[in-house]
Amino acid sequence: MAEETVTISRREYDSLIHDAHELSVLEAAGVDNSSAADYAYTLRREMPCPCRSCAEERE
Ligand SMILES: [Zn+2]
Repeated sequence: MAEETVTISRREYDSLIHDAHELSVLEAAGVDNSSAADYAYTLRREMPCPCRSCAEERE
């Protein structure tokens, strides 16, 4: 059986990529760390989000 595929808009796709990346950053920062939010902010620069909207913001 062929693998099922879906078609979504570029905006929806980028939103999914963005949210998954945000979770990766928060996990890397450690959710139980009281300064996790600050650390995530730093990590976000070291781990740039690959989604299109963030890439455009960085330009
Ligand atoms: Zn993003």
